[in-house]
Amino acid sequence: MVTGGVVSSIGKGITAASIGRILRSYGVDVTAIKIDPYLNWDSGTLNPYQHGEVFVTEDGMETDLDLGHYERFLDVNLSGKSNITTGKVYSSVIDHERKGDYLGSCVQIIPHITNKIKDMVRKIARESQAEVVLVEVGGTVGDIESQPFLEALRQLRNEEGHDNVMFVHVTYVPYLKAAGEFKTKPTQHSTKELRSTGIIPDMIICRSELPIDQALKNKIAHFCDVEPKAVISTPDVESIYEVPLIINQEKVGEYILNRIKIDACDQDLNEW
Ligand code: ADP
Repeated sequence: MVTGGVVSSIGKGITAASIGRILRSYGVDVTAIKIDPYLNWDSGTLNPYQHGEVFVTEDGMETDLDLGHYERFLDVNLSGKSNITTGKVYSSVIDHERKGDYLGSCVQIIPHITNKIKDMVRKIARESQAEVVLVEVGGTVGDIESQPFLEALRQLRNEEGHDNVMFVHVTYVPYLKAAGEFKTKPTQHSTKELRSTGIIPDMIICRSELPIDQALKNKIAHFCDVEPKAVISTPDVESIYEVPLIINQEKVGEYILNRIKIDACDQDLNEW
C-alpha cells in the first residue's frame, strides 16, 4: 500500500510503479490498483490541465494517468477496475441499498463503504492471480476524501495479516537553500498524521531535489519509527525511468520481499 504525505504530485505513482518493476525483476508477478479519492466516477471529465491526460485501458475505461505508468513499468495490461474512485464505491453501495441488499440496516461509511473498498481490492487480487498487488492511494494523508480508503486498508492489514500487507509512505524532504540543510519535520508530521489513522508505515520513501545522506535517513528512521534501511532516498532525476534503478540500489526489493515473506528468485536485471 503506497500513501503520500506533505504535498501532492510527490511521485507516488512513479514510486509504486518502480517498486513493481523491481519486484518483477525478482520474478514476482505484480499488478496494481490506483485509488482516486475524488467523487468523479472516472477520470473522463477531469480537466487535463489539472490532472494530466486520461489513460484509456484495454476495456475502454478512462482512468488516471498513473495506470499508464503501471502498464509501462510492469508490462501488464490493466482493466478499468484497477482504478477505484470514491464515485465508483459510493454509486455501487447506493445501488445495493436501493435494491434492499442491506436488509434494513443503516448504511454507513464503516462498514458499508469500507467493506466495498476491501471487496474491490480483493476482487482485483483474485482475478489477476498476482502474487503482489500494489495499491496506491491518491492525494495526501490528512485529506478528508482519503479517510475511508485508509481505514479500509488498515482493516485489510488486520484481516489479511501483518505479513501480507505492508505500507510505504512517500514524503517530501525540502532543502532550504538559505539554511543549507534538508528539513525532516514535514515528513515527521505526515507520518504522525498517517499513524493517527492506525496505519504504521513500514518504509518511508523520501522525495527530494538532491539525494539525502545516511545521517538524515537515521534521523527520519528514529523520529518516524522505521528501520534505517527502510528509509529510501529518491532524488529528482532527468528521466522517471531512472527511478527503479535508483531505489533498487537502496535494496528496496530485498526489504519488501523479506517483509512480506516472498521467496523470490535471484534478481535479473537483463531486460532493464
Ligand atoms: P503522484 O502520484 O504523487 O501525484 P506522480 O507519480 O504522478 O505523483 O508524479 C508527479 C510528477 O513528478 C510526474 O510528472 C512525474 O513524472 C514526476 N516525478 C516523479 N518522481 C520523480 C523523480 N524522482 N524525479 C523527477 N520527476 C519525478
